[in-house]
Amino acid sequence: MDLAIRKGTVVTAAGTFQADIGVQGAQVMLLGREVPAADRELDAAGLYVLPGGIDVHTHLGRLRPFQGVDDFRTGTRAAAAGGVTTICEYVIHPRDTSLASQVEQWLAQGREQSIVDFGLHLHIGDPRPEVLNEMPALVEAGYTSFKVFMNRNFDSRVREYLTALERAGALGALTCIHCEDESIIGHLTDNLLGQGKTDVRYFAQSRPAFSEAVATARAVAFAEATGAPVYIVHLSSAAALEVTRRARARGLPVYVETRPIYLYLTRERFDQPGKEGNKYVGYPPLRDSEDVSALWDGLRNGDIQTVATDHVGLSFAPKAEPPDFSRIPAGMSNLETLVPMLYSEGVAKGRISLPRFVELIATNPARLFGMFPRKGTIAIGSDADLVLFDPSVQVTIQAEQMHSQADYDVYEGFTVQGWPKVVLSRGQVIFQDGRVVGRPGQGQFIPRERFGGL
Ligand SMILES: [Zn+2]
Repeated sequence: MDLAIRKGTVVTAAGTFQADIGVQGAQVMLLGREVPAADRELDAAGLYVLPGGIDVHTHLGRLRPFQGVDDFRTGTRAAAAGGVTTICEYVIHPRDTSLASQVEQWLAQGREQSIVDFGLHLHIGDPRPEVLNEMPALVEAGYTSFKVFMNRNFDSRVREYLTALERAGALGALTCIHCEDESIIGHLTDNLLGQGKTDVRYFAQSRPAFSEAVATARAVAFAEATGAPVYIVHLSSAAALEVTRRARARGLPVYVETRPIYLYLTRERFDQPGKEGNKYVGYPPLRDSEDVSALWDGLRNGDIQTVATDHVGLSFAPKAEPPDFSRIPAGMSNLETLVPMLYSEGVAKGRISLPRFVELIATNPARLFGMFPRKGTIAIGSDADLVLFDPSVQVTIQAEQMHSQADYDVYEGFTVQGWPKVVLSRGQVIFQDGRVVGRPGQGQFIPRERFGGL
């Protein structure tokens, strides 16, 4: 054995057990009590051994002009430090470009800079026939998920997008949909700005929960019309969750992701003095405490299948500058805190079980996005992507301690119970005792299998 991890409590989606782990090369080779002496030994007494976190929603690739401060190098440094060993990154597709040319750029950046393994989802920004004709070869090459934004350049091209969705379903790909109603948001934003209500405290009003719910209902109807599975990204409200709950109860292939900010923060953040509220702008906006508790119920009872970050490394200056709320760059840094905060706020506070936590941050994302059982669990033959997690430490979040290049953190001052101690990617230590030791370029592109349900 190259590596033995001893005396840890192994956690999978199926349960918790005491076992030693033997790693040979990149894979878990032994799991049990009879692991022979290895070249390297790690003591996991008092620690949980978790499958590496999988964040299926990141924005690290560069498209100019772009105000983000993280790239694959700094973004995956944050990932490694937070126990995320695989990301799925969105390739952005501008009009008048081909999907293949965009994929090539993202793949080159990821291969050169990524510390952790990565898959790529393909945004379709321009669903003209030549673009849709690229889909079969790309699915064949392991890009088995697509992305559609309903909140921009959508309403004038719905029929083309329906064709894209149907094509994706027929090819065995999952389509990720940003559900906010473009027309409602445009109308409300124009009205607010026309009344001189430009401050960020009006931002949430410009993108209400009902605009998310109606777009989500439409996405559900699209799934019904085309037979294609849909994955609702960063669902934020009780109203939208209710729409997906009913669809799933009817057996429709509808899957739901939520995002950390909707679990820990509420819209009062936008009411802070000065430009402080601008820090929290992302799409959809933060909601009310009733929404927060509905989302926790959804995590607990299975109505929500994944938690992913939508990480965009943004610093405060570009978010503070714009003259009105509609022009504030959307998004924020979240990658490093994904796993420890869900443990702390979820497991340590008794809202979700330990196996459910693992299911949400590793197993379900791996299954939905064609990486299971290579990723997302601890089993013989799986990649040795492992997190030795110390549930006894407390960490107070401070932006300057974080590995993202962003100069602020939305959870500044939060005290978090539990943090990764050692993180392994395919058997190699990439983070240990506060230091990222993985190298840019060490991460591999993961071609993904076709969609096979949960
Ligand atoms: Zn996103």
